[in-house]
Amino acid sequence: MNKILILADIHANIHALDAVLEAQSAHELSAVYCAGDIVGYGVYPNECVERLRELGAICIRGNHDRFVIGLDDGSSFNSMAYEAGRLTREILSAESRDYLLGLPDERRVDDNTLIVHGAPGDPDRYLFGSSELSDMADDLQREEGPGVCIVGHTHVPAYADSDHAYPSDKMLVMFDDNRRIMINPGSVGQPRDGSPAAAYALVEMDSGAILFNRVTYDHEEVAVAVRSRGMPSYLAYRLLIGV
Ligand code: ZN
Repeated sequence: MNKILILADIHANIHALDAVLEAQSAHELSAVYCAGDIVGYGVYPNECVERLRELGAICIRGNHDRFVIGLDDGSSFNSMAYEAGRLTREILSAESRDYLLGLPDERRVDDNTLIVHGAPGDPDRYLFGSSELSDMADDLQREEGPGVCIVGHTHVPAYADSDHAYPSDKMLVMFDDNRRIMINPGSVGQPRDGSPAAAYALVEMDSGAILFNRVTYDHEEVAVAVRSRGMPSYLAYRLLIGV
């Protein structure tokens, strides 16, 4: 089975990442893709980088990753994100920094699949909801772009062919090979759709099925860790309610 695990916006939350991985049978996965923001906000950046390396995950950088390694000046960040990035620099190991430095901002995995953080050609652009994703899918169709485009950045799961908002429940969609599709799996480590459960997607390339899924983890413990390491207190609070 050609099954791919799609992750985004892990944000240094190893507890959420491990909960997602434990929900899978690793031997069934043919690949793991990650659409950026591995670090920032959370307090376990090195653990998350290490886990992705172990998995051989195919990753790109997000805006938080770039800021933490000095490739973004943070001028577009709010004060909370800026402070979190500053603290992350103090925690980040040289190995983790090297790993992030080696990642691209956008990656064509194969002829058919593109991974970007925000939008194709613009890693910082937010594509909110299925309507903006649909417009982008139309653009890709017109430009004969890749069939599958994976994005993150908004921290909200979304799919190009659906008008639904699906905050926390399992959702299965089938994609059509003839159409361009956009997948935002939602955020592993800092969901913002009202559910604190870690979000991810599983794509079965052979059958064309995409499962948007959630898994609970001990988010209260992580919130305590975030607060105790001196991160802005709202970053702990938002983990508790998924905003
Ligand atoms: Zn993010």
